[in-house]
Amino acid sequence: MPELPEVETICRGLAPSIVQQKIITITIYNNKLRYPIPKNISKSLAKQTIQKIYRRGKYILLTTKKGTLIIHLGMSGTLQIKPKNHPSGKHEHFILTFANDLSLRYKDPRRFGAILWTNKDPLKHPLLKKLGIEPLDNNFTANYLYDRAKSKHCAVKQFIMNNEVVTGIGNIYANEVLFAAKINPLTAANTITLHRYQILAKEIKKILRSAIKHRGTTIQDHTDSHGKQGSFQNKLKIYGKFDENCCRCQTKLTHIKLGQRTTFFCLFCQNN
Ligand code: ZN
Repeated sequence: MPELPEVETICRGLAPSIVQQKIITITIYNNKLRYPIPKNISKSLAKQTIQKIYRRGKYILLTTKKGTLIIHLGMSGTLQIKPKNHPSGKHEHFILTFANDLSLRYKDPRRFGAILWTNKDPLKHPLLKKLGIEPLDNNFTANYLYDRAKSKHCAVKQFIMNNEVVTGIGNIYANEVLFAAKINPLTAANTITLHRYQILAKEIKKILRSAIKHRGTTIQDHTDSHGKQGSFQNKLKIYGKFDENCCRCQTKLTHIKLGQRTTFFCLFCQNN
């Protein structure tokens, strides 16, 4: 599942092909995604020009004069740029073609993603308005985490993966940032000191920025809009390291299931 760095990479990759481009055709092959694609979407998007593409949490927003197309990639969604006449492939459910003869294709084998439309402020859309702060925003600080954690008895890993607290941190980056900050993922969020949240907030920003620089983490077949893979998987220090030793202290790494997500940690480095 793409997380913040992967979604940011997708937005940056798509922009040169679609921004300032007029939509010529809208084709829906299958509207049965997590939420049905709205019936009026073709009418709303017809002849519109994409003004801007940006991200809020893991939602991709395409702005037009009339409103905003909201895309979520779910578990297995991808957005690809292909020549407009390229034959449509399996699982390509939604295709836009543009005046520059390119097409934007939403492909999603598992169909947990979403394609929605709003002609109001997209940030106030029911799916977006509850989203927490952006971790790369200046207002995301140790104090913010510390204050929000006061009433949270859950494990710190689940706390930082809660999109209503902070958006875009999924399982891969939650494992990485807690390892970097030397915090045990199981520690109750409300028992962590402000000082340790200072280290964590710093590591979150550092690791997410580095992952964006490396165009995200490519696991299985995730590629960006031009089929290119990211390289942050080569920088991962703990995620996916079954039966490996800690790169800091050589202790054998531990992995458990926490909230159905595989959680990796070093019992020596992350002992509280
Ligand atoms: Zn260690």
